[in-house]
Amino acid sequence: TKDDVKTFLRRNAFVLLTIGAVVFGIMLGFALRSYKMSYREVKYFSFPGELLMRMLQMLVLPLLISSLITGMAALDRRASGKMGMRAVIYYMTTTFIAVFIGIIMVLIIHPGKGSKDEFAKQQKIQQISPADAFLDLIRNMFPPNLVQACTQQFKTQYGKRVIYVKVINESIFNLTNATQEIAQEEVIPLSGTTSGVNALGLVVFSMCFGLIIGNMKEQGQALRDFFDSLNEAIMRLVAIIMWYAPIGILFLIAGKIVEMDDITQMGGQLGMYTITVIIGLMIHGMIVLPTLYFVITRKNPFVFITGLLQALITALGTSSSSATLPVTFKCLEENNKVDKRVTRFVLPVGATINMDGTALYEALAAIFIAQVNNMEMNFGQIITISITATAASIGAAGIPQAGLVTMVIVLTSVGLPTDDISLIIAVDWFLDRLRTTTNVLGDSIGAGIIEFLSKDELQHCDVELGSSVLEE
Ligand code: ASP
Repeated sequence: TKDDVKTFLRRNAFVLLTIGAVVFGIMLGFALRSYKMSYREVKYFSFPGELLMRMLQMLVLPLLISSLITGMAALDRRASGKMGMRAVIYYMTTTFIAVFIGIIMVLIIHPGKGSKDEFAKQQKIQQISPADAFLDLIRNMFPPNLVQACTQQFKTQYGKRVIYVKVINESIFNLTNATQEIAQEEVIPLSGTTSGVNALGLVVFSMCFGLIIGNMKEQGQALRDFFDSLNEAIMRLVAIIMWYAPIGILFLIAGKIVEMDDITQMGGQLGMYTITVIIGLMIHGMIVLPTLYFVITRKNPFVFITGLLQALITALGTSSSSATLPVTFKCLEENNKVDKRVTRFVLPVGATINMDGTALYEALAAIFIAQVNNMEMNFGQIITISITATAASIGAAGIPQAGLVTMVIVLTSVGLPTDDISLIIAVDWFLDRLRTTTNVLGDSIGAGIIEFLSKDELQHCDVELGSSVLEE
């Protein structure tokens, strides 16, 4: 009936608007391609999208800190310990499955047939050692200066080492520590893409801090209340930004389609490679994760995923799991009614370290590069790739194309030429969006599973978390 339609529309207004934005964005993008806009014009055109990125990123820092601190403080020591264990097991298992799928797919499909000469352009990338990268991962867990950790540029992640990734379309992502002397005039910083926070360090600090104020009885009450109400305030801001999200997503997607390279010119190997990645991500996101959810919770995974649609689309539009974090919170708490003590704990950690899509991608890409170079990877090397791909996905920041940078760890670990990252850059912007979506899906399903497994503990510690906007 009419009323049913009305309630349906009202309930799903956001999702419908967002889906509409994606469809319209794609059409608009293709329609405008024939105009051959200049780089600058494309940047102007995508400006509303850039604004959405900035708004979301603006909220990430206070959201991450306040949710983790209150989440940890709300759990007693036993509950947080058990939930923490479950989270770690979930992250590890799903990441390894993802890596496994990536490796199997690339071995079966073998997209790297032929030779490297088929690739038109190649650029130099300077090398960093995997040991440095590993140490940096640990180092970043303990930021010496908290204020700096909040403003840290992603590019400082590898200490003093330098890596440049030349992008085919005339711009350069200077992804890590930029030293001026190299190709300075060529550097076009793409605003918003390289800035970030040292999320890993902040996660470690906030968890410890939350645990401590949770155990402080009355003395900790002021702090607990402070962070709890900070969290609520941020979530209210998220609710407002959500109204702008469809517009932002529309322009993000349209702008990217306008500027992308001609797909028809894409070489056979690169095309096969893209397809292999897509199949791998689909198997993981649409079969493995839902099955896992169903087997453990006995609930319909697709109902759960439908509740997440907006977050998934935002991930697709922004290619950043940390920019998507506010939306992921909203979807899980509001649509899927996941306990706040779980989301506040599991989501920020997940967005920072749990990246199934990235892990799958890095393992797959490394073996693809080996194939292109006609190098056979033996079993030991494949194991090394699995381990380093897992580490690289933990180390990757939740920002666009971070996975491309941490891939250096994987390649160097088995002696593959890091220069060859440039072979896959042309399609990375696209694959990045898909793996980011998989990353967000993995975090969210994890929250659902961990909530289910932690029912007992949650019942025993009944600390109330803020009366959310979402419940009003
Ligand atoms: N863009 C991805 C994310 O934010 C990371 C990656 O580059 O794989 O989750």
